[in-house]
Amino acid sequence: MMANNAYASASVPPKECLKAISTPLRFLKGVGPKRAALLETLGLKTVENLLYHLPFRYEDRRQIKKIHSASVGEEESFAGTLVFVQKKFIPRRRRQMLIGTLSDGTGMLGLMWYNVPPYMAKTLSRGQVLLVHGRVEQGLGGQKRIVHPDFEPIEAGEEIDAEKILPVYLRPGGLPLRTIRRWLEQAVADYAPYLPSFLPESVTRRQGLMDLNRAMNQVHKPDKTTDLASLNRFSSQAQRAIIFDEFFYLQIGLGLRRKHRTALEGIAFASAEARLTGPMRGLLPFTLTAAQERVVEEIYRDMASARPMQRLIQGDVGSGKTIVAWLAALRAIENGFQAVWMAPTELLAEQHFRNLKGFSEALEIRAALLTGSQPESTKREITAGIGAGRISFVVGTHALIQEGVRVPRMGLGIIDEQHRFGVVQRMALQRLVHWQAAAAPTLPQPDILLMSATPIPRSLAMVLFGDLEISFLDEMPPGRTPVETKLCSARERGTVYERVRAQIKNGHQAYIVYPLVEASERLNLHDATGMAEELRLGVFREFRIGLIHGRMSAEERDGVMRRFKEGALQILVSTTVIEVGIDIPNTTVMVIEHAERFGLSQLHQLRGRVGRGNAPAQCFLVHYQAHSREARSRLRVMEKEHDGFKIAEADLELRGPGELLGTRQSGLPDFRLADIVRDAHLLLQARKEAIGWLTDDPFLSRPESRAIRQVLLHRWGDRLELGAVG
Ligand code: ADP
Ligand code: MG
Repeated sequence: MMANNAYASASVPPKECLKAISTPLRFLKGVGPKRAALLETLGLKTVENLLYHLPFRYEDRRQIKKIHSASVGEEESFAGTLVFVQKKFIPRRRRQMLIGTLSDGTGMLGLMWYNVPPYMAKTLSRGQVLLVHGRVEQGLGGQKRIVHPDFEPIEAGEEIDAEKILPVYLRPGGLPLRTIRRWLEQAVADYAPYLPSFLPESVTRRQGLMDLNRAMNQVHKPDKTTDLASLNRFSSQAQRAIIFDEFFYLQIGLGLRRKHRTALEGIAFASAEARLTGPMRGLLPFTLTAAQERVVEEIYRDMASARPMQRLIQGDVGSGKTIVAWLAALRAIENGFQAVWMAPTELLAEQHFRNLKGFSEALEIRAALLTGSQPESTKREITAGIGAGRISFVVGTHALIQEGVRVPRMGLGIIDEQHRFGVVQRMALQRLVHWQAAAAPTLPQPDILLMSATPIPRSLAMVLFGDLEISFLDEMPPGRTPVETKLCSARERGTVYERVRAQIKNGHQAYIVYPLVEASERLNLHDATGMAEELRLGVFREFRIGLIHGRMSAEERDGVMRRFKEGALQILVSTTVIEVGIDIPNTTVMVIEHAERFGLSQLHQLRGRVGRGNAPAQCFLVHYQAHSREARSRLRVMEKEHDGFKIAEADLELRGPGELLGTRQSGLPDFRLADIVRDAHLLLQARKEAIGWLTDDPFLSRPESRAIRQVLLHRWGDRLELGAVG
């Protein structure tokens, strides 16, 4: 039924296009209902989702080399017969490994895999014909080898896919790469012509963009003449077109949202009396920094206006955002309104509550804490107190938006560590006031204050948070000693452990951070789970060690964090999930293993968890095979630089491949291909074009904006809550 017409989207109306690509995956040829159900649990529901499941890498099969001419240090492909395969157990590491030998008649190539998952061991057997790909190394005993090669079994009678560039995909549910490739080929053939390529022609011409159909074809089925290097760098014309398209709609959406918001009625908070904000100045245990004063002023100005505020505070770890938000809360409360503060975890909510309780008592404000794990009776009592307006300040977790809380006089909502919440949750907070659904549109909107966990460069912040006002808290309170930071090689690990031991013997605590939860089949990295065990039995056996990672439930994580905070644990082994805002001043040392795997901003964020007390703190960045000088000099930035904004900028400039991990956390809606750091330039271009378009047609009401409006609602309607706009 689906015609394979290369220019369908030029002639097919947008509605039809969107309908076609919304086809559930079970209707794609070759995907049965069972597999479709599996894919659905992984977020791949429609043909469109699958088409945007883009390759993260490409393999060059245009040249299959002969083994005798394999060159050490190069990424190469070989085809041959597996003449030997054996499982081996390494007692020291308690790991299974697999070794094999591939022969193609010209020589023998060693293959080895550490930490072999059982299914993989089963797929390999002697006599099998394999296509392998990877970096050639000089093995022991002179034989060349590949560690952790990619491989694909070639069935009898099947032709080897020579002469091709093959896309490599993340394999949802561990499905074979070959299956995924086949589905994508089918999806591209049947549906790519229906991808909605509706950017204004003036824009595509100026930016030199190809249409999405062609772009998808090139990305999923690159032909032999493609420039592979640019594909692998995500800078090919095809990838640029897809990325630009994505950014353009986001910027249009953000622009519309801002327009919509500033047209709504808000609350104009009076500032003359300062019944609470005045006396609070006398209670402050320190003088505000100039930056804090400036940001407070910016917030008060917004709050005084009759338009609803949506302001984001961008500030480094430890720059003192909490007190700024508290001063904002007081402005709402002194005007007879309620303020609600939402934090991402119970521990953080409790910490804020404890810190602010003294002030609220001194000012005679009724304050409360609301978290999911409180007894039902407590929750009921607090919810009732808020609903009756007796409680004017409440700090809580997601429970605030889940427990049927009503805040009839809500004047201000504060969202701490905003990147941990989705747009939907932010909106839910804002709506706590609108519990009388029918009356909703007529009630004034509460003001909203968002706080970042770690800064990003100004230029980027403006673009990413295009619908928000932004304040920069770019000055640290005086008297902080920067965390002494040292880059070490893996060989120096012994010394690092000694330093950790010394700190613990002095009564302090330590964090040891790893990039992965569990050993992975592909990457030869130390992992948190395995290492917690190894340290517990080995070097640190006399200490109490806890483990925390992202696959544990929020309660389990909170439990471990709590025990660490109380001192019941001395070392916390973790992935990157330790809360940014968590204040455990007794922790004076952090070891970050495989530092080369992290982005600089992320390292900075991690490092911000130590050095919160009076004792000097240390951070060791342990790198493994940081082969290149670039990799090392990138990490050296951390030794000298302690300003989060500057680090973010360096991150942006250097953007080595390791940066990928570091950019996930910027609090963005997730993109399908775009990477905001890598593609910062495209993002700026897309913003310029989007703003230009909206200047000419502010509400997308002209006929030439009709398609844009439909695609916008399809892509971002839910995520940006554009329903009211459209
Ligand atoms: P973050 O911005 O990371 O949320 P916090 O608000 O938790 O930082 O502040 C970090 C620490 O700095 C807190 O102990 C806080 O009391 C302290 N602090 C905040 N502002 C000042 C200031 N102007 N002078 C001295 N200490 C301050
Ligand atoms: Mg904070």
